[in-house]
Amino acid sequence: MEMFSLAGRTALVTGSSRGLGNSIAEGLGRAGAALVLNGSDQARLDAANEAMLARGYTVHLAAFDVTDEAAVVRAFAELDARGIAVDILVNNAGIQLRGPLVDLAAEDWRKVIETNLTSAFLVGREAARRMIARGRGGKVVNIGSLTSAVARATTGPYTAAKGGIKMLTQAMTAEWAEHGIQVNAIGPGYMLTDMTKPLADDPKFDGWVKGRTPSRRWGTPEDLVGAAVFLSSSASDYVNGQIIYVDGGMLAVL
Ligand code: NDP
Repeated sequence: MEMFSLAGRTALVTGSSRGLGNSIAEGLGRAGAALVLNGSDQARLDAANEAMLARGYTVHLAAFDVTDEAAVVRAFAELDARGIAVDILVNNAGIQLRGPLVDLAAEDWRKVIETNLTSAFLVGREAARRMIARGRGGKVVNIGSLTSAVARATTGPYTAAKGGIKMLTQAMTAEWAEHGIQVNAIGPGYMLTDMTKPLADDPKFDGWVKGRTPSRRWGTPEDLVGAAVFLSSSASDYVNGQIIYVDGGMLAVL
């Protein structure tokens, strides 16, 4: 299954110091990719680095805030200077902030939109500029959500951002597919990470997730690896602008 191999490629996964991004990075490493780990917290990044090195992967670190345009531009210039070319970009970094829209401060709205949506544009732009200039294509995988397709009360800005991720994936496809860059998205269902721990710890919410999901369980970060490797590999070379929901079937049923 050579088509799934990522040997010889380098993958930058934003927000890979923990959670889904960390598992996705580990999976891409298992498939043969060299990794560029990113997060905003240097200590967490160092811990992730040690764990990946222990598995024998080639690892580079790029600590930057994905919402800070100047920091993103600087990080890519530093990668250039170190001779590191990003062939695969996974736009994963994100935050959640729960509350009713009528109580939401504009500042909190902007923070969620910038972290979950604007970041994918900023990092995507820097990666794509280089992929186009190199002329050997590339892969961009944007991390959406069930809220790329449906809304849930108290997650207004997150829903708007993740809906935006679905259409940004299509907008990037419209401009970058002709350069051999396949841009796709993954829409995870309810997965167990730090972000969802308060929900999983709430028996009522936990019961709702298990009752509402045909698979009758939460997803694990490892559940995303298959889709991430597929969308990062030559196996998906004619797959463009799609979002694959990895959700135990939640979106398929009422
Ligand atoms: P976590 O909170 O567990 O991890 C978030 C990661 O993003 C961390 O590595 C964090 O780094 C990084 N990050 C956050 N803000 C920034 C920033 N400004 N700059 C750089 N890195 C940043 O979240 P999850 O793993 O659960 O979520 C990952 C992605 O998956 C998000 O986009 C989320 O919306 C999406 N998702 C998650 C679902 C779930 O059920 N868990 C479901 C659907 C989608 P640091 O530690 O340095 O802050």
